[in-house]
Amino acid sequence: MRIDLHTHSSVSDGTDTPAELVRAARTAGLDVVALTDHDTTAGWDEALDAAPDGLTVVRGMEMSCVGRGEDGKPVPVHLLAYLFDPNDTSFADELARLRREREARIRLMAERLAADIPGIVPDDIIAATGESAGRPHLARALVELGAVDSVQHAFDGYLSTTSPYYVDKVDTPIQRAVEMIAAAGGVSVVAHARARKRGRILDPDHIRELVAHGLGGVEVFHADHDEPDTRFMRELADDLGLIATGSSDYHGANKPLKLGEHTTDPRQYERILRAATGSTVPS
Ligand code: AMP
Ligand code: FE
Ligand code: FE
Ligand code: ZN
Repeated sequence: MRIDLHTHSSVSDGTDTPAELVRAARTAGLDVVALTDHDTTAGWDEALDAAPDGLTVVRGMEMSCVGRGEDGKPVPVHLLAYLFDPNDTSFADELARLRREREARIRLMAERLAADIPGIVPDDIIAATGESAGRPHLARALVELGAVDSVQHAFDGYLSTTSPYYVDKVDTPIQRAVEMIAAAGGVSVVAHARARKRGRILDPDHIRELVAHGLGGVEVFHADHDEPDTRFMRELADDLGLIATGSSDYHGANKPLKLGEHTTDPRQYERILRAATGSTVPS
C-alpha cells in the first residue's frame, strides 16, 4: 500500500484541479491520497467524485496556525487535519476567518509589490486564487511577468518572511486548533515541523505540550526534513506515542515535489482511521 497524506490542489496553492490530482495520484501508483488544501475543504467533493478505481481519497486539510518557536517567539505552524466533520460550526467559522486573513494579506502584499514591479495587478491576482489565497499565487504572477525565473526564486527574492513585501496574517493558536479538530472528530498532525528553510521552527517542547490537548501525530518523512531532523521527528513520535506520517506535500507545478515522494506506513494510516470520528473514507 502506498499512502500519501499531504497534497494541494488549485483550490488552494497547488496547480492541479482536485480531479486532476486524484488521477495523477493513481498514475503515480498511490493507493491512498489525502487532499489537504490550506484552510479549506472546498476540493473534497470533486476529488471524491473523480477518484479512479483502486484509489482511496482521504478528506483532509492543512490549517494555518501559530505556535511557540525555539526562541520563545511566535512562529507559523501548519497543522494537518484528517477526517473531521466539515459541518462543525465553530470550526467552519474559524476556517472562514483564516481564508479572509489570507485574502487580505495577499492583497496587501500584491499592493506592495505593485509599487515596484510593473504589471502586478492586485485584483487580477486575487481573482486567480481559488478558495484560499497564498504566497505561491504571487510567486506564479512574478514568474509569468518574467520578474523571476522560478517560484523558488520568487520566494527567495520577494516573498520570504524577511522580505519588505511580506505581510503577516493572524493564524489560529495551535493549541486551540488541536482542540477544535478533536472536537470536530478529526485527527491533527503537525506538518513539516522542522522545515528550517522556510524560517524559524517550532519548539519541540510545544509539540510535547500539545499531546495533552489531543494532538494525534507528526509528519516525520517530508522533503524539507534532512536526515537528522527526520530521525529527531521519528524519535519524538515514538517517545510521545504519536502517529508518524510521511508525505509529498505535492503542489503541482508550483513545487518540484512528486506525488508519493514520501509515504506513510499503513499501520500509521490505520491509526488515523481508528482515531477519527468526524467523517469516513469511502469503502
Ligand atoms: P502562505 O500560505 O501564503 O503563507 O504560503 C505558504 C506556502 O508557500 C507553503 O505552503 C509553501 O507551499 C510555500 N512556501 C513557503 N515558504 C517557502 C519557501 N521558502 N520556498 C518555497 N515555497 C515556500
Ligand atoms: Fe502550500
Ligand atoms: Fe505546509
Ligand atoms: Zn502543504
